[in-house]
Amino acid sequence: MPAHRSEDEDKPCRACSDFKTWAKSQNKTTLNTPNKVAPVKPADCPLDKDDLGRSTWGFLHSMASYYPDKPTRRQAEDMSKFFNIFSQFYPCEPCALDFQEDIKKHPPKTDSRDHLAQWLCERHNTVNRKLGKPLFDCSKIHERWRDGWKDGSCD
Ligand SMILES: Cc1cc2nc3c(=O)[nH]c(=O)nc-3n(C[C@H](O)[C@H](O)[C@H](O)COP(=O)(O)OP(=O)(O)OC[C@H]3O[C@@H](n4cnc5c(N)ncnc54)[C@H](O)[C@@H]3O)c2cc1C
Repeated sequence: MPAHRSEDEDKPCRACSDFKTWAKSQNKTTLNTPNKVAPVKPADCPLDKDDLGRSTWGFLHSMASYYPDKPTRRQAEDMSKFFNIFSQFYPCEPCALDFQEDIKKHPPKTDSRDHLAQWLCERHNTVNRKLGKPLFDCSKIHERWRDGWKDGSCD
């Protein structure tokens, strides 16, 4: 699959591609050499699509799991605005466009922590489904992102 290109510049978009695809598009991969060595990304490179996704989900789910149980009306409105603005500026454009469509159909539920965390878990599962990944059990959302697993393995 070719690396996605950013809309405003006719350049491949790193944040829309996985590292292997990106490296191939730059002709820097050693995959075509006889010993077929996979490219290894140094730790301090710009984020590719998957790094960006993992880091962003971590931030978003943590934010939802620490959101107030009983937000003020202002907090609830601001959190809805946050997701609408976030979806316009997420740097992987194809991801952002799908996310915009998804949250148009399923607007943010910002009237409580549990509703926000469940809503976001479902949005993430929509992306998981699209990518053919396993779905996450949303009843465990706060164990994963705030409290740690009930078996104590995170304590
Ligand atoms: C808004 C958004 C839209 C995206 N759209 C696309 C896209 O269109 N195409 C594309 O290729 N990539 C997209 N991504 C990236 C993609 O979702 C993954 O982040 C990326 O593929 C890396 O996946 P991963 O397997 O490391 O785990 P991730 O999906 O990044 O998940 C990180 C961790 O979150 C936990 N988790 C998994 N599912 C859930 C859930 N439902 N609720 C709570 N926690 C969960 C798991 O413990 C997992 O290890 C998007 C990312 C974001 C933030």
